[in-house]
Amino acid sequence: MAIRFYNTLTRALDTFEPIVSGQVRMYTCGPTVYNFAHIGNFRTYAFEDLLRRHLKYRGYAVTQVMNLTDVDDKTIRACRETGVPIKERAKPYIEAFFADLDTLRIERAEHYPAATDHIPEMVAIIKQLREKGHTYEAGGSTYFRLSSFPNYGRLSHFDMSQLKEGASGRVDLDEYSTEDARDFALWKAYDDADGNVYWDTELGRGRPGWHIECSAMSMKYLGVSFDIHTGGIDNMFPHHENEIAQSECATGQSFVRYWLHSGHLMVEGRKMAKSLGNFYTVRDLVEAGHNPLALRWVLIATHYRQPNNFTFDAVEAANQALQRIKDFRLRLKDATGGDSDLASEIETCEKNFGAALDEDLNISGALASVFDFVRDVNRLIDRNEAGPNSAKNAEALLARLDAVTGLFPAIEDAAPQAVLDLALERQQARRNKDFARADAIRKQLADEGWVVEDTPDGPRVKRK
Ligand code: AMP
Ligand code: ZN
Repeated sequence: MAIRFYNTLTRALDTFEPIVSGQVRMYTCGPTVYNFAHIGNFRTYAFEDLLRRHLKYRGYAVTQVMNLTDVDDKTIRACRETGVPIKERAKPYIEAFFADLDTLRIERAEHYPAATDHIPEMVAIIKQLREKGHTYEAGGSTYFRLSSFPNYGRLSHFDMSQLKEGASGRVDLDEYSTEDARDFALWKAYDDADGNVYWDTELGRGRPGWHIECSAMSMKYLGVSFDIHTGGIDNMFPHHENEIAQSECATGQSFVRYWLHSGHLMVEGRKMAKSLGNFYTVRDLVEAGHNPLALRWVLIATHYRQPNNFTFDAVEAANQALQRIKDFRLRLKDATGGDSDLASEIETCEKNFGAALDEDLNISGALASVFDFVRDVNRLIDRNEAGPNSAKNAEALLARLDAVTGLFPAIEDAAPQAVLDLALERQQARRNKDFARADAIRKQLADEGWVVEDTPDGPRVKRK
């Protein structure tokens, strides 16, 4: 059983072999915390979550690092306009980011280093590059000289011969057009527009460019060579290309073995992006009543390399898929027939599920194996051949599959938001000594199949 991933570097399905047997070290470009992340960003984070969970399912010890970009052009502009210090500006958005991860059941990475906590590490790499002749200074800024790295363009298949020596010019912006391959800023000299955002270092007063943070933080936590680097496809060029150039020139070692890139979440044919204003945040969608689990389903059920078109029809279809699985679990729970242990059904399901994900995270194949299982066991229930033992083993299987997909939490954890809201309303009614209202809500919940338990941590809702 080999795991294969489509590696952007080789443009092929490569068999996965980590540098250190049994261990995976992976780096994933994280959010720019100047605002709320949108569900397009979370499509990429959900893909990375599926990747880490599958590797863990296959027995690897995974160390994942995701950076928090808390200094960039947009953040600085916002700080200047509002007068809020940079750390303070980022804090609520970092908290919102973690809350959204939880809402979408995205597992925590092992490290979330923030750029502003790693300025010395970035300066150290830039100094190494300077000593080796890969940089030059202009106007107090330090630039990486693309022509000093012959391998530049290997990841994105950018043709370096198009880049005329000396004619490439420089860019200072963190974001620039994808046609541009220019000497990029490693360190940006302070100017008045930066307000109170600057660091005094051996490179002068200024701040780091965007790309250097990922080289510094990935290598600090994962070593100079590591296994997997991921991100959305828009990060491949120039960001990841620049990361390779900086890292390999500084260390003289190969940076990353496998580069995995996710396709974009689209809205009406266009990439979901803050700059286009065509985005939804997780919190907006949940507030509007959408089931977070259905959102997770929509984000991961399309293969990660395909563009994923976000529609409310797709959310509805996800809800129906979840409902089918829930109905199946409830039906099996009540089954009292001849008690099959489901050994062969479970083995077939898990074998097909794992094999599908081994092949470049083929999620459609994996989910199909779950629905095949549901269909087969439903037939057993119809024939009165399933009972408590079947239910117990099926639940154990679903718990294992949930560890990989995050899509099959035990039913009592999966009360819809409307039910949870009612439980909270009941608690409030009790606090207000409005026992008639509290009882009415308890009855309504019972009619819908839920029981409420009062615990010191608040109400807990369970299936009857
Ligand atoms: P940013 O905060 O723009 O640097 O993006 C953070 C991560 O989200 C990066 O890996 C991006 O490639 C990814 N990303 C941004 N927009 C989308 C989108 N519409 N669909 C999928 N991934 C995206
Ligand atoms: Zn990055």
